[in-house]
Amino acid sequence: MTNTMPRMRAGFRAMKAEGGWGVVCTGYVSVHPTSDDSPLPYATLWDENDVRSHALMTNAVHAHGALAGVELWHGGGSVSNRTSRLPPLSPSGVSWMATHVGFMGNQRSKQMEAVDIKNLLHWQAEAARKAKRAGFDVIYVYAGMGYLPYEFLLPEWNRRTDAYGGCVANRVRLVRELLEVTKDAVGESCAVALRISLEELRAKPSDRAPSEAHEVVGLLAEVPDLWDVKMDSSPTDCAPSRFTPEGSHEPVIDFVKRLTSRPVVGVGRFTSPDTMVSQIKRGVLDLIGGARPSIADPFLPRKINEGREQDIRECIGCNICISSWHDSVPVRCTQNPTIGEEWRRGWHPERIAAAGSDAAVLIVGGGPAGLECALSLARRGYSVSLAEAADKFGGRLRFETSLPGLSAWGRVLDWRLGQLQRLPNVNLYASNKLSVEDILGLEHQRVVIATGASWTCALYSTLEIPVGELAGPDVYTPDDIAAGVQPAGPIVVFDFDNYYMGSLVAEQLARIADSVTYVTPAGHASAWALMTNEQPQVHRALANAGVQLLTLSRVIALTDGEAVVANLFTAAKQRLACRSLVIVGVRAPRAALYDALVARRDDLAAAGIVSIDRIGDALAPGAIVHAVHSGHRYARELDSATPGGPYRRDVPIIDAPPLLYDDGTEERSAQ
Ligand code: ADP
Ligand code: SF4
Repeated sequence: MTNTMPRMRAGFRAMKAEGGWGVVCTGYVSVHPTSDDSPLPYATLWDENDVRSHALMTNAVHAHGALAGVELWHGGGSVSNRTSRLPPLSPSGVSWMATHVGFMGNQRSKQMEAVDIKNLLHWQAEAARKAKRAGFDVIYVYAGMGYLPYEFLLPEWNRRTDAYGGCVANRVRLVRELLEVTKDAVGESCAVALRISLEELRAKPSDRAPSEAHEVVGLLAEVPDLWDVKMDSSPTDCAPSRFTPEGSHEPVIDFVKRLTSRPVVGVGRFTSPDTMVSQIKRGVLDLIGGARPSIADPFLPRKINEGREQDIRECIGCNICISSWHDSVPVRCTQNPTIGEEWRRGWHPERIAAAGSDAAVLIVGGGPAGLECALSLARRGYSVSLAEAADKFGGRLRFETSLPGLSAWGRVLDWRLGQLQRLPNVNLYASNKLSVEDILGLEHQRVVIATGASWTCALYSTLEIPVGELAGPDVYTPDDIAAGVQPAGPIVVFDFDNYYMGSLVAEQLARIADSVTYVTPAGHASAWALMTNEQPQVHRALANAGVQLLTLSRVIALTDGEAVVANLFTAAKQRLACRSLVIVGVRAPRAALYDALVARRDDLAAAGIVSIDRIGDALAPGAIVHAVHSGHRYARELDSATPGGPYRRDVPIIDAPPLLYDDGTEERSAQ
């Protein structure tokens, strides 16, 4: 949430401190305008406004007895300085070349001169002093993820011939000096930590040690007060559960503790207390770090302490949270709808206001939206009935968790159902497909429609205008696959949903059909999944499954066992053998029940029903994260006023200089 939303940020981090996390760290905090990652949401410590902004967070964290850590950061050749317009700096003028759509830039970096290195050390020391004034207890040097100190460590980036390049001892010099200047600046009262990526270094052989990673850690062993060890790129560091299991960093970082007496902290989507305990007991780590686990459940440590493991809302590894960083918006989470809403909406993950009336609430549809709504209403004390047509709860999760790699997503259902089953004021009715007459007869005052959405066969033009449907006996949607249909091959999967469903359906169908071709108008398969760090592995998964790939293309017709495919830009046509076409395009709300109910206005009043509302996909189709938030918001807002709009708006902390007109005169207020 950066310095532009300092109160939201403080509320977000304070919640983790309240939940029992011992140290609460910032995300990356730039030390100087030569490190400008805009439009991505990075924080800054450049001036006194920034000090005051961060102090909100450190005070809030300290109030709960936790320490506050700050990740001081220089992005080097990985940033484009789009706002500051200063030349990026790198060891040898080598820049980060993002090959994925969305993160590209066209500003390359300048090779650092001796004076640039001197300046960098000065900026780090200055930022450390500011961090101390802001109240931080643990101050980081950040040598990870392609950022500047990391670039000095790797020979591919660092081709210098001076004292900072060449042998490992030289390449480590900058990191050592950054640690030393930080210690000189604040070391007597703050811990100085080193966050370092070890994946590439561990793969590099060394004459003096088992790998260059061992050599680097050996050379710096006792210099930092704390080692914080991790992987090298966002998709491997913050890996999605679709492709990577919990605790996946261990093979890369497991040696560090043997080379230092300093404590070592690591991450890797730890969700189960057993995995955490195992890594501590086996001497892999001293301290457990968690970004996603602390987002999905800020109260995870407290729940472990209190022996309430069954109450932990485990992260599902969907990486919607990381997509909020890529989207440059406040953090979102599929499992925890309250995250990011602590300050602006006043939502607490463990507390919720008591019911505002004695209304009984009927929720129709037991998918993510209905389940979350039922649970939150029941926690408020409402009498809740949740009816689901299918014999099992879960909605879309029933099918989606059966797709390759998505079983962990089942926690969205399991956690909610487990909590609901322990509440006395909830009635759960599976195998109950409710009709209008049923609902009119059930004597509930509030009715919530959470009936979800259906996939359609709608097609769009190159101008992205709807141009009708491509229906027919050989045309299917993911709903058909969910219902158990096994289309005959050769199969074409036409995906313009661009998230996970298209590539997963193709991967799944490749297990039963000889020939599956995945066609998309996007440049990549599952193009939006770049946002969730899944996309880089999707092409590999499709290749491994034997799926053919055709990008920048649209299916425009299905005739005589062939799909007619047009190039997005040239309209050049080609024909693909196709007995079955699966369209993974847009979803439409299942609106029939809601529409029929609201048409019976008089009968509703006679039945004592005072409101009918829609939530989740039945209201506006989206990802699971949207449905959960929608269900939660309904529950929070029932019988409660939200004065002044849906939420409080945050503003930066600014000791503003007067604005100037072009002629140099100061702008005065209207007074
Ligand atoms: P969301 O993501 O918004 O929760 P889902 O599609 O996951 O939506 O879930 C909607 C659920 O509603 C499905 O499990 C579906 O079986 C159920 N449902 C749809 N119509 C009815 C109905 N008339 N009565 C009971 N349940 C219904
Ligand atoms: Fe975990 Fe998904 Fe929540 Fe991120 S958004 S913390 S990956 S459940």
